[in-house]
Amino acid sequence: MEAFDPTPPSWTSTASHSINFFCPRCGANAHKAIKVWINRRSPVISADYRRKWQEFYLCECDFVWWAWNSDRPESDLAKREFNQEEADDLS
Ligand SMILES: [Zn+2]
Repeated sequence: MEAFDPTPPSWTSTASHSINFFCPRCGANAHKAIKVWINRRSPVISADYRRKWQEFYLCECDFVWWAWNSDRPESDLAKREFNQEEADDLS
């Protein structure tokens, strides 16, 4: 599954940081993304000692953006649980 590929896909190289988990160009949310890549190789320890990592999204409008997983909206719980299950499969 490409989302958990250890090597960054080439499309992630042009990503712009989104602070609100929406596409900065068209406003679509992460569910609309055509491709997803999660950078689990380089987690960062945040101020509250939780691990966080970058999530890259290729939007349907062709814009590439990324956001910290810790910035994911609380209303997005279903997707978060999906990601957690994927993480458990890897360990
Ligand atoms: Zn977009």
